[in-house]
Order: sequence, then C-alpha cells, then structure tokens
Amino acid sequence: MSDSVQRFLFERAPIRGEIAHLESAWQRVLERHDYPPPLRALLGELMAAAALLAATIKFEGSLIVQMQGDGPVSLLVAECDDAGALRATAKWRGELEAGPLAAMLGEGRCAITLAAGPGGQSYQGIVGLEGGSVAAVLEHYLRRSEQIKTRLWLAVEAERAAGLLLQKLPHPGEDEDWRRAQHLAETLTAQELLGLPARALIRRLYAYEDVRLFDPRPLAFHCSCTRERVVAMLRMLGYDEVRSILAERGTVDVGCEFCGQSYRFDRWDAERVFTAAAEQR
Ligand SMILES: [Zn+2]
Repeated sequence: MSDSVQRFLFERAPIRGEIAHLESAWQRVLERHDYPPPLRALLGELMAAAALLAATIKFEGSLIVQMQGDGPVSLLVAECDDAGALRATAKWRGELEAGPLAAMLGEGRCAITLAAGPGGQSYQGIVGLEGGSVAAVLEHYLRRSEQIKTRLWLAVEAERAAGLLLQKLPHPGEDEDWRRAQHLAETLTAQELLGLPARALIRRLYAYEDVRLFDPRPLAFHCSCTRERVVAMLRMLGYDEVRSILAERGTVDVGCEFCGQSYRFDRWDAERVFTAAAEQR
C-alpha cells in the first residue's frame, strides 16, 4: 500500500469518513530521530490523525496538531498540508515507559492550527489534554471547538501507521445510523486497520451499507523548512541575541527539528540577515 488518504461517504446516511495509510512517510520520520518505542506509538498516531483531519477540511495551507505537556514527553507535533506533505517531531527527556497518554504528556494542552497559505486567514484552537489517548484528545477537541461529532481509530507499528476517521455531517436526527457506523468501526482490529487496503476495510466494516469510496490522494514526507524561514526566525530573535550567540560560539547553528537539516550562519551571514532587513525598510 502506498501512502495515501481516501475519503468515503455513506450514500444513505449523513456520515463520511477518511482512511489514511502511512508507510514511507512514517519511515522517513523514524529514521531522523531515535524515538523510544512508547513515543513512536504516540507520534505515529498523531501523524495519521493529522493526515485524516487535513483531509476533512477545505483550505490552502497546513494543519498542525500539537500536544504540549509537563510530563516526560514535552512536545508532539504533526503537520499535513493541502498537498499531502507530512512531517512530525517530538521532544522528550529521560527513559519512557509505555502508559496512558496522561502519564507521558502530563498536564498540558492540544492546539490545532490552520496555517493558511499566502493571503489566507490562519486559525488556532486549543483544548486541554482530556482523554486517555491521542484519538480521545482530538475527538474532544472537535466536539468542543468545531461541534462536529468525530471518531478516530489510530494504529501504529514499526513499519506503518494508519487511521480511520468517521464524521457525522450536520443533519437533524439520524443518530441510529451514526451509532451503528461507530459500533461497527469498534470491531476493527489494529492489524486490520494497518493491513487492509481502503476498499477491503470498507467491505470488512460496512458490507451491508451503501458506501462510496473516492480516489486515494497521495501523502508523502516533506519538510517545509528553508534558509529564508530561518533568516526570518533570526530576525524575530533580534540583533542583540544573535550577536551574543556569535560572541559565544563563533557561528549561529539552527537545526530543523523535523528533518534534521542544519543551517549555519557565520559572522558575515548573520550581519547580512540584519543589514538586508534594514535595507528592505
Ligand atoms: Zn526541515
């Protein structure tokens, strides 16, 4: 199976869904950092969820799902743009033991940002880390911020990550269909979610429903970092701060947390960052 996200629609009920499969995009994230296994599970789930959520909205730009906490895992980020470009990273300290989400992240918050492309309006919503899993936190977010009934099933293994999303479209009544669709999805095993192509998965769950499956849209690992963005970040940091780093280390080195690319600025480059900004004014 290639990395893709695929939409489906119940023809006779106000319910839609998405199925995401990640293989090489997930591998590309794993090969960049030596994440401990319990963290890999969380990050893979978050990455699959970002692909699913990005697929449900119409926008130009990136959807960024970020969970921050005061526990051993301090940060989880996954990002998916409208072209299916995905990236993800995490920060942690010490030894990690597999456990409930609350034990790994501690107290914290979940933010979903829609970072619009040029000319668009960006948006951010924030909720607490309520729920025992990545899926539960995001379901809670969507219920609270968007008033959309959404369910997520996420699964991760060494080679693959996958997810299923169900969403009840705004429509009065019809809750019986929604309950049945969820109930059937509950019977899905992680192995089935990871291993079955979308069409087989729909047949496995909804053999007796009239479900339309759309064409798959490709997903791929891609990092949007550029030297220009690092320059903009250094300008935000300010001349004094950059000069003090230079005085201490001789160069300013900025590494991308997502892809590992490093950007080096020597004294001359760093001065140019600020003189070029001054010339633009
Ligand atoms: Zn990067």
